[in-house]
Amino acid sequence: MASKFNCPNCGGVNEYAGEGDTVPCQFCGSDVHPPEEMVNQARVARVSSKAKVWIILFIVVVFVLPTCIGLWGTLVGIAASVIGIILGVLAPLFGG
Ligand SMILES: [Zn+2]
Repeated sequence: MASKFNCPNCGGVNEYAGEGDTVPCQFCGSDVHPPEEMVNQARVARVSSKAKVWIILFIVVVFVLPTCIGLWGTLVGIAASVIGIILGVLAPLFGG
């Protein structure tokens, strides 16, 4: 989200990429403060993109992980009963 603004020192047009509070002017080299509105908008955009990451993490932890653990538990349960059946069948053969 790059926004254009004029340097207050030399009037050159600079682009604000949305990071930091100052931008080095491409024309006169001085550190320029982009308009407050632009900085705030960029800050809000950064926060909301962080919020998206947290929401995705939340969904993974709350919904995806229990599903995986549940599936894993089911597989272990099936494996355990299969082993139990096999042992039950084999036990008499080995003098059980
Ligand atoms: Zn300048």
